[in-house]
Amino acid sequence: MPITAEKLGYLDEDYKIVLRDLRQEYQVRAKDGDGKESFVAIENFSLDVRCGEFVSIVGPSGCGKSTLLDILAGLSKATSGTIIIDGKKVIGPALDRGIVMQGYALFPWRTVRKNVEFGLEMKGLPAGERREISSRYIELVSLAGFEDRYPHELSGGMKQRVAIARALAYDPEVLLMDEPFAAVDAQTRETLQDELVRIWEKTGKTIIFVTHSIDEAILLAGRVVVMSPNPGRIRAVIGVELPRPRTNREMRASGAFAAVRQIVWENLQESGGQFAPEAVPEPRFQPGFSGKLAVAETRFAAVP
Ligand code: ADP
Ligand code: MG
Repeated sequence: MPITAEKLGYLDEDYKIVLRDLRQEYQVRAKDGDGKESFVAIENFSLDVRCGEFVSIVGPSGCGKSTLLDILAGLSKATSGTIIIDGKKVIGPALDRGIVMQGYALFPWRTVRKNVEFGLEMKGLPAGERREISSRYIELVSLAGFEDRYPHELSGGMKQRVAIARALAYDPEVLLMDEPFAAVDAQTRETLQDELVRIWEKTGKTIIFVTHSIDEAILLAGRVVVMSPNPGRIRAVIGVELPRPRTNREMRASGAFAAVRQIVWENLQESGGQFAPEAVPEPRFQPGFSGKLAVAETRFAAVP
């Protein structure tokens, strides 16, 4: 059930995600001395996301984008503030939210099919049904024929497709994506962008998409949230009223697109952080069996 105007008392639309005054503090080593001090990663963060909306988030490195997604995913708990998804307070991870991280957070010991079926196993679906669903999503991301490959036998773009298929397969209503295409080449990235939009249009998911690319943010989203650092806050929310379908090629030639890009760019400049377009983040769970990989498992395993 989406949260309604009535429940909140002051909104007049159905919202999938309601964030109020989020604040995230971390305890870090004090700059001088050996004590601890608190570091504010996110402050005063309020945002409402409508059902089926596609929202992009851009901002300088360290402005709290990943922190925000972790909170939304229920993987970390905000110091204070309210997070409501579907009218319910977020208290931990759940299968109503799919997560696609930066890099390729696939399980290296599982085949493509087994990766895609992971959430379905967690849900307790029988093998036959899992197989039918995984086949559908593997096809949706154009990986039919690669079901039995292991992640190390795939290209970067293919791995990212598997991650998307895995997130979609258990049919979450909300998709949280943290720089999902940062580590693939430009051409693959355009293909994945088109696929994501196609999937979004087909499935009506609510998507929060963090990116380092202004063009990507605009191409995909109905709104672009620009964050500023120290502490991480919303600097601007920019509506993208460009007709769909939007293709990379059309966008590049569009004056309206250039105008939106200019607005986003100016806001980023004024945000005062270090914005590194196209920076490729370290893949989080590679290589091998780092502690982070264990976290990836519990992220799903913790789901009731
Ligand atoms: P972004 O994804 O926008 O680059 P992050 O959300 O990863 O930024 O980090 C925001 C800020 O919070 C950074 O300054 C980062 O160093 C800090 N931070 C993130 N996680 C922790 C943590 N577990 N402990 C201390 N500081 C953290
Ligand atoms: Mg990040």
